[in-house]
Amino acid sequence: MASHIVGYPRMGPKRELKFALESFWDKKSSAEDLKKVAADLRSSIWKQMASAGIKYIPSNTFSYYDQMLDTTAMLGAVPPRYGWTGGEIGFDTYFSMARGNASVPAMEMTKWFDTNYHFIVPELGPEIKFSYASHKAIDEYKEAKALGVDTVPVLVGPVSYLLLSKPAKGVEKSFSLLSLLDKILPIYKEVVAELKAAGASWIQFDEPTLVKDLESHQLQAFTAAYSGLESALSGLNVIVETYFADVPAEAFKILTSLKCVTGFGFDLVRGAQTLDLITSGFPSGKYLFAGVVDGRNIWANDLAASLSLLQTLEGIVGKDKLVVSTSCSLLHTAVDLVNETKFDKELKSWLAFAAQKVIEVNSLAKALAGHKDEAFFSENAAAQASRKSSPRVTNEAVQKAAAALRGSDHRRATNVSARLDAQQKKLNLPILPTTTIGSFPQTIELRRVRREYKAKKISEEEYVKAIKEEINKVVKLQEELDIDVLVHGEPERNDMVEYFGEQLSGFAFSANGWVQSYGSRCVKPPIIFGDVSRPKAMTVFWSSMAQSMTARPMKGMLTGPVTILNWSFVRNDQPRFETCYQIALAIKDEVEDLEKAGINVIQIDEAALREGLPLRKSEQAFYLDWAVHSFRITNCGVTDTTQIHTHMCYSNFNDIIHSIIDMDADVITIENSRSDEKLLSVFREGVKYGAGIGPGVYDIHSPRIPSTEEIADRINKMLQVLETNILWVNPDCGLKTRKYHEVKPALLNMVAAAKQIRTQL
Ligand code: GLN
Ligand code: ZN
Repeated sequence: MASHIVGYPRMGPKRELKFALESFWDKKSSAEDLKKVAADLRSSIWKQMASAGIKYIPSNTFSYYDQMLDTTAMLGAVPPRYGWTGGEIGFDTYFSMARGNASVPAMEMTKWFDTNYHFIVPELGPEIKFSYASHKAIDEYKEAKALGVDTVPVLVGPVSYLLLSKPAKGVEKSFSLLSLLDKILPIYKEVVAELKAAGASWIQFDEPTLVKDLESHQLQAFTAAYSGLESALSGLNVIVETYFADVPAEAFKILTSLKCVTGFGFDLVRGAQTLDLITSGFPSGKYLFAGVVDGRNIWANDLAASLSLLQTLEGIVGKDKLVVSTSCSLLHTAVDLVNETKFDKELKSWLAFAAQKVIEVNSLAKALAGHKDEAFFSENAAAQASRKSSPRVTNEAVQKAAAALRGSDHRRATNVSARLDAQQKKLNLPILPTTTIGSFPQTIELRRVRREYKAKKISEEEYVKAIKEEINKVVKLQEELDIDVLVHGEPERNDMVEYFGEQLSGFAFSANGWVQSYGSRCVKPPIIFGDVSRPKAMTVFWSSMAQSMTARPMKGMLTGPVTILNWSFVRNDQPRFETCYQIALAIKDEVEDLEKAGINVIQIDEAALREGLPLRKSEQAFYLDWAVHSFRITNCGVTDTTQIHTHMCYSNFNDIIHSIIDMDADVITIENSRSDEKLLSVFREGVKYGAGIGPGVYDIHSPRIPSTEEIADRINKMLQVLETNILWVNPDCGLKTRKYHEVKPALLNMVAAAKQIRTQL
């Protein structure tokens, strides 16, 4: 009877770590205070897993910031600019790498596979000298042991670490990161030796890059790495853990032939082919860590279905070699359902957060061993059945409407250049029109107003009055700045997805369902549990109010279906695309209502479209197809003179540029200034783009105020590759996180730059 957890959330059930970190960073509490909160969290997690009966309990999955950064610290791979001079890496150096300090900016951060978690990207060059500089793994192992819990220390595997790194600045592109393998293995050996000496009998290496499309020399690195570690690992049981997709057949073969590995962890939730691979050849005598409990979602497991899958697997790998596990670290799900007091009993019975998933894993392991907790299983079966048949989940009309979408492409009848002409007649914009992305600074006062309205402390009338004043202020400011296409500033929204989710049917909101996004930052994704519909208009009231305040065009502002989907916990009882189509239909109704209300420019944000791109190339075309289709559904019904904008955030667009074109928006504003104008290179290489396009002219993530010259320079660069009549001038993204004293001069300079160039054309 064996159960295993790949990893566990660090933040705590009430985001205790977040508050401790931020208070430490603000110098309101000491390092000792922070360490105490962290130790308490770790201890309660270990004890919780131990008392649930989990056999393989992870340690070293806690982190003050990020597990990749922890590995960088372990290897002493500190970039020289942080001035670290050796010795054990402390908070100073660690948090400087994570967050920057007064004189040096932070290391780059990027998304962890296709999750919303972000890791700190190691920067490695040929000169780097590695040294064992953080004993965190061993300290955590001993700490748990002292509490009476024997854990499985978890390390980011050496090959994934290197494959997820980037060459340091100034190092030529041809530099092979994998050439550093021989240099990091000695450190891994030291760590392993210490863990062994401290009494560890199992050790887990996370090698999630194995699920990607790797080249053969990259795959060979796994063989090289683990045979290099073989002598160090002797006498230890080794798990190599993979997650987020199945392991491609070639990689599976290489992985399962690693001699020093005792057990292999696979994601059986997302790994569509894994079962076939295991059936067709799992090495005898090795352990299978079967990830049947979903670490990426909040749904209660279908225990009966999992049990039957596990029994099949038992037939293949043998009774004593099967370990029940989670599909990936529980880091990517919410922490504990006990703190959810707002949910009704039925909805709650459909859910499982990390703490509940631990119990599920263990109950499956017990059932396999013949100690099935009948009451627990039948309760679970009843919840599964109620979810299947609940009228809260199913809305026949929505199902029908979504099914009727098939067979049509949903394209606007007229082509984009004719539409732009028609729109220009109505809008009469100057060349290089200026605009912003939607939100204006969210002041403390604004947040207070929204909070008090929600808590019914102020009346609807007072609330409307306050928001109206704010919109008026933002409109007047934009007129003063002489911006061409205005926004209302989004003062009524705390979040671009939550705002819509709260007004759509089929969504639920947790009180504490936080998931770490990066560092101390967490997000609380809405839960889509049922068919999605729009009971009534969501934005028309505010948008028409804003339009009535100005003669200039006011953009209606919506979040697109793909972004709503990608930033929510999505139902697992129908394919993602079906849910997306349903949301698209709801947004379509909103678009048409805005048009009827006289809004001539409507922006439908698809900030997260690139984010949802599947990890495996073979699945990407299908995703892009339905994602782009969903976007088109929202606006295929408007007249030619209604101008549809979309906006996309920082991401790599180059490989999806054809899909972006296929969205067929009239204008796209797109983040650009942090990616070294990589975006423009696509156009330089000859991709034809006929619609309006506004690559951001300055970075809104920084408080820095860009000068007119600098912005003009950027615009001129863009004009070298883009036609004058399609270029728009706008910031990178919304201004919500900035202060007015930053926004005003920055926009002033932006408009001045546009005007200056107009006179030169
Ligand atoms: N319209 C949104 C805003 O300006 C877009 C935000 C985003 O792209 N993340 O805030
Ligand atoms: Zn953005």
